[in-house]
Amino acid sequence: MKFPNIADIATREVITIDIKHTFEEAMAKMLKGEHRNIIVVDKDRYFVVGVVDILNLKTNNIDVKTPLKDIQLVNVPTIKKDQNILEAVDYLNNSTEYICVVNNDMSLYGLITHTDITENIDPDTLMDNYRIEDFLKLGRRMKWVNKDAKIMSLLEDMVSNLYDNVVVVEDLKPIGIFTTKDIMRLVKNDIDLDVEIKEHMSSPVQSINKNFSIREALSFLKERQFKRVIVVDDDGHLSGIISQKELITLSYSKWSSLMKEYQDELREINKKLQTKNIEYENLASTDALTGLYNRHKFTQLYLSSYESMVQRHNKMSVILLDIDHFKKVNDIYGHNIGDKALIEVSKMLTEMLREVDIVCRWGGEEFIVLLPTADLEGAILIAKKLQKSIKEIKIDKVGSITASFGVSEVREGEEMQDAINRADKALYLAKKDGRDCVRNQSDI
Ligand code: GH3
Ligand code: MG
Ligand code: MG
Repeated sequence: MKFPNIADIATREVITIDIKHTFEEAMAKMLKGEHRNIIVVDKDRYFVVGVVDILNLKTNNIDVKTPLKDIQLVNVPTIKKDQNILEAVDYLNNSTEYICVVNNDMSLYGLITHTDITENIDPDTLMDNYRIEDFLKLGRRMKWVNKDAKIMSLLEDMVSNLYDNVVVVEDLKPIGIFTTKDIMRLVKNDIDLDVEIKEHMSSPVQSINKNFSIREALSFLKERQFKRVIVVDDDGHLSGIISQKELITLSYSKWSSLMKEYQDELREINKKLQTKNIEYENLASTDALTGLYNRHKFTQLYLSSYESMVQRHNKMSVILLDIDHFKKVNDIYGHNIGDKALIEVSKMLTEMLREVDIVCRWGGEEFIVLLPTADLEGAILIAKKLQKSIKEIKIDKVGSITASFGVSEVREGEEMQDAINRADKALYLAKKDGRDCVRNQSDI
């Protein structure tokens, strides 16, 4: 899952001040821009000064002319601007609400807040990082009354505004709840409604703190099988009321809007990953210099060709070829020219052979060819063709080169190495016989 980079969500409107300045100067800058805080820069390190600090200063009678470096400031963590937002999640445990976004050289790029991060991540993390408080304003309106309010006076409001419940408070603290169900019960039992609500409310009430995460709130409701719960602040004062349905709908609508936003990005990432996979596969199976298959890939292809050879009862052969006196080429013309010669030979091999044939760089200046449909006779002919073609290549500065060839036919029931060993022995013979020639397993 890909989410935005830190740089995409960071605000660049940050006011900063160097640590050598005074508190007074920092305050002046804050007031001028109507900022609630300012970032204090000490080379690579960043601190924040906020309204709370100003109040602290006042209460502690500290001189506003004090240099910032002499005041205990709150350190702000830093995060590189090209990091992914998911890498920033850990920063949420930090006590400061701010994170400085920095360039690679640690200079300040911008600022992000915890809220910026949580707003931009997935639903699961979202449920952990969003607090009830963030959702309260989005939830349904709540009706609350003092405990001595008359039920009668509430009825019209409840009916016309479709409140299905009323929170009963005393000194702003919730002490009970009164629902439309209670009204029905009272009406049914013909009870006088001109009485105070506290006589008929359900009490006591359970509440949760507005700092509860969405997940905590949902499990609270689930455990008690409540449909809704009253939310209070740290002082126990009523903050609102929220239902399970609202919590779930709000979380999911937030999630779905995030998903919509990232749809294109996800598709893009998927595409990139797929091409990367192909790239890696190619890298793992080919030789960097010549682009031919490497030994690892050759082995794979040999094994599958061998299987179909056995199934179809056809013949398959191997040609091992080694460039003659190649060391001299390097010694005389240099390694780069040597490399060029290897590339030319590889090109020729690929051009001369058929699609079904498998060409591989076996080692230094040694190549192996698997002919999945050729018997020994056929393979010898092909080897002779290649012997001729190599001589015809015109290599920059070097002119022409030759190669020696060893040919073997694969036998049913043998290991790959057995067939290669025979070809190798034939090749050795070709070298011994003066090079620039083809030898096969019957010669050994
Ligand atoms: P022979 O005819 O007996 O095969 O002689 P040779 O010189 O070709 O054989 P030898 O095995 O003594 O030397 C092979 C040389 O191939 C040595 C090495 O420098 C060169 N070689 C191996 N890999 C590369 C490569 O990737 N690039 C270049 N330029 N040279 C390579
Ligand atoms: Mg060699
Ligand atoms: Mg050689």
